[in-house]
Amino acid sequence: MDFNLSEEDLELKQMARELADKRIYPRALEMDEKGETPQDLIQECAENGYFGITVPEAYGGMELSSTTFMGMLEEICAACAGFGIMLSVHNSLTCEILKLFGSDELKQKYLPAMAAGEKIGAYCITEPNAGTDIASLSTTAVDKGDHWLLNGTKTFVTNAGYAGLFIVFAKTHPDEGRKGISCFVVDKDAEGLTIGKPEMKCGIKASDTREINLQDVKVPKENLVGNPKDGFKQAVVILNSGRIGVSFQAIGIARAALEEAIKYSKERKQFDQPIANFQALQFKMAEMATRIDAGRLLAYRAAQLKDAGVRCHRESSMAKLFCSQMSNFVCNEAVQIHGGYGYIKEYAVERYFRDARVTELYEGTTEAQRMVISRDLLKD
Ligand SMILES: Cc1cc2nc3c(=O)[nH]c(=O)nc-3n(C[C@H](O)[C@H](O)[C@H](O)COP(=O)(O)OP(=O)(O)OC[C@H]3O[C@@H](n4cnc5c(N)ncnc54)[C@H](O)[C@@H]3O)c2cc1C
Repeated sequence: MDFNLSEEDLELKQMARELADKRIYPRALEMDEKGETPQDLIQECAENGYFGITVPEAYGGMELSSTTFMGMLEEICAACAGFGIMLSVHNSLTCEILKLFGSDELKQKYLPAMAAGEKIGAYCITEPNAGTDIASLSTTAVDKGDHWLLNGTKTFVTNAGYAGLFIVFAKTHPDEGRKGISCFVVDKDAEGLTIGKPEMKCGIKASDTREINLQDVKVPKENLVGNPKDGFKQAVVILNSGRIGVSFQAIGIARAALEEAIKYSKERKQFDQPIANFQALQFKMAEMATRIDAGRLLAYRAAQLKDAGVRCHRESSMAKLFCSQMSNFVCNEAVQIHGGYGYIKEYAVERYFRDARVTELYEGTTEAQRMVISRDLLKD
């Protein structure tokens, strides 16, 4: 069963697997320990076109379908989920918002450098007091005639430490709630933009996460993405891409954990035989594999609906809800199959167990996905 992937999808997935196995996995432990994304690895991915996956060819990208990209992302995340989310945020959130909603001028200004990996994108919607309730954000953008003036603080900004540009959501019409939000591109060098220290996280340590502060930051008029007051709608559309991305991140982590558990269970002996002989563990692995495939089916369905241009809010949230919980379940079981060794850093499942946790938190928590799905079920 290949989830209806085309020859090209499978070929690109295989190429991503080779890059992941040979170049990313061997450095995953180091990235986890140092909490860093090596620049030479970023450069290597850039040379392979991985920063222009969603960018149209006219702007130097590959413009692959979501289905193709997601197969590749699973492979990268199976090697290192922290590295994978860097690519996911860049391609699925930042390049894609410019592709879908940016003016030709804005695309020309940023997409070629983004596709080349010279400018990495960061996506800034969350604030200290606006998480799940994104409509309550308080960053402001005031029209000053020849420029916009932005003020506010954004938290949990993935890629912030090495981003070349920030996609920032701000209120241009503070009295109009979600309808008063607009979206801007802010250059890393903009005066008044300060980037905080890296957050010390539980997992996905290769991913850089920081707070940013905007104090009287002047943003050129042309850096408004689409129309004023369209920010909330744009964010909701783009979140579908992000949620499908996190689903495949979760699948990649879970698949890697299951592979480690199978290998270990054949090597480790207790009671004079491999622990793989014990039905209690065989049944765990059967359950893990079944849930991973169920997640893949949901996630590819969402990706294929998106590629077909069909509204897929419910399906993206279902995929994210299921895959993130599935990944936590699978990684927990993989640790269990390793016994005490699963709790030791030398064994990769310890990292997978920590990395899986965040998939239930970002791009909307598990509860937020349930809100999206149930709202859709109950609407007239
Ligand atoms: C490592 C990491 C990277 C991230 N990267 C980015 C990024 O690049 N850009 C960005 O903008 N954000 C990013 N985020 C932020 C992330 O999307 C938010 O953390 C998430 O949306 C939840 O917001 P919160 O943390 O403020 O939690 P809160 O919204 O405060 O939620 C706290 C708890 O209350 C629950 N809850 C809230 N409202 C309801 C409700 N109505 N009904 C039921 N339960 C509810 C939540 O599900 C959760 O369990 C990142 C977060 C992390 C941890």
